[in-house]
Amino acid sequence: MKNQVLVLDSGYIPRGIVSKERAFTLVMKGSAHVVETSPTAKLRSAGGLEFDAPEIIRVNRYIRVPYRRSKTVSRRAIYERDGYRCVYCGSETDLTLDHVHPKSKGGTNEASNLVTACFPCNVRKGSSLISEIGYSITRSSGELRDIPESWKPYYI
Ligand SMILES: [Zn+2]
Repeated sequence: MKNQVLVLDSGYIPRGIVSKERAFTLVMKGSAHVVETSPTAKLRSAGGLEFDAPEIIRVNRYIRVPYRRSKTVSRRAIYERDGYRCVYCGSETDLTLDHVHPKSKGGTNEASNLVTACFPCNVRKGSSLISEIGYSITRSSGELRDIPESWKPYYI
């Protein structure tokens, strides 16, 4: 994770990971703001100035994630299934969706690959596989069971 910067969209939803250099470029271009800087790492600009290296940036736009029609579910449906709690720590605030198997490693947007995670857990997890960093999912089943009728309006 050394040279990686988490990218949030304007809704503070984690959208990806870029290199520190790329993040710095986005910020310099005015396309993103720094949310969190590294306490240690520095970046040197072309003009020789030193900057705290970003660790989290937020881009200025809301990123719509393209969903495939059939197998994906809405954010709300996942929250409903997980009882509006982070599956990692049980927190009920700052909820986001997390890809159990990261998209960067081939994970999909299918319900079986999505869980409710609070923002701090999501950030900590980054694009790591949960087994790599010792997280475990407390929910008993990773599979979406038969979908309740009430969720169907939320399917995209
Ligand atoms: Zn959590």
